[in-house]
Formats: sequence, structure tokens, C-alpha cells
Amino acid sequence: MASIFSKIVAGEIPCYKVAEDERHMAFLDINPMAPGHTLVIPKQEIDYLFDMSDEDYLALELFAKRVAKALKAAMPCARVAEAVLGMEVPHAHIHLVPIQTEADMNFRNKLSLPGDDMASIAARIAAEMK
Ligand code: 5GP
Repeated sequence: MASIFSKIVAGEIPCYKVAEDERHMAFLDINPMAPGHTLVIPKQEIDYLFDMSDEDYLALELFAKRVAKALKAAMPCARVAEAVLGMEVPHAHIHLVPIQTEADMNFRNKLSLPGDDMASIAARIAAEMK
């Protein structure tokens, strides 16, 4: 069965898209731990990030780096933090989270922002993509 993220890639489930290229996609986490929390995924479904080939893994990280720079420009923050868990969705993904302090990187924080806010945050990040 296709993962929920494959359904997002296929357009079967909506998302607040931030960026996309041929092989990768970035969209806002539905329950962000901070506004701007973004997930970066390979379009091709694979469960575990560290099972990816070196080439695919490096390409994903390079794409995530571009997204992280756009995120930092769009959402004022001290750092963009990166994390890999994969405990909930079995489709490799990188979490990018704008943080002011270490305490902001808290996976127990699950915000639910209004759709208009999510849409405008995604548009702001997308506008900074180079
Ligand atoms: P993990 O698998 O790394 O533990 O966490 C998966 C993340 O995906 C969670 O932060 C969760 O909020 C997010 N998530 C789960 N389902 C969806 C969804 O349908 N759309 C989006 N945009 N994010 C989701």
C-alpha cells in the first residue's frame, strides 16, 4: 500500500507544498512543532532514510539544504534544525524546523495552525527557493 507521503506526491492527498524537483518534494508538516516545520522527502517511496543509495541520499540532503536556506530566509530563526525519526510515517523524510532555542526542537509540540496561515507560510518559503 502506498504511504501517505506517496499519496501526497501523487496529488491524492493535499499538502502545503514548499518546493519540488523531479525527485524530491518539501511540504509543511501537518502538525508542526514550530511554524514552518517542513518535511523533505524523496518522491520514490523507501521506508528508511539510511537504506537509500549514497547517490539518492546525497541528492535528498542537497535538496534539503536548499529548502533549509529558504526556510531560514522566510521564517526568522536562530537555526534551522534537521532531524530524522520515521517512527510514524514509513516513507523516508527529513524534518527541517526553524528554532530559536534547543527547547523548540520538541517532538511533543504538535501545533495545529489555521489553513490560511499554513498556506501563507508555505508561499513565503517557496518564494525564497533558489
Ligand atoms: P516521523 O515519522 O518522523 O516520526 O513523523 C512523521 C511526521 O509526519 C509527523 O511530524 C507528522 O505530523 C507528519 N505527518 C503525518 N501525516 C501527515 C500528512 O498527512 N501530511 C503532512 N503534511 N504531514 C503529516
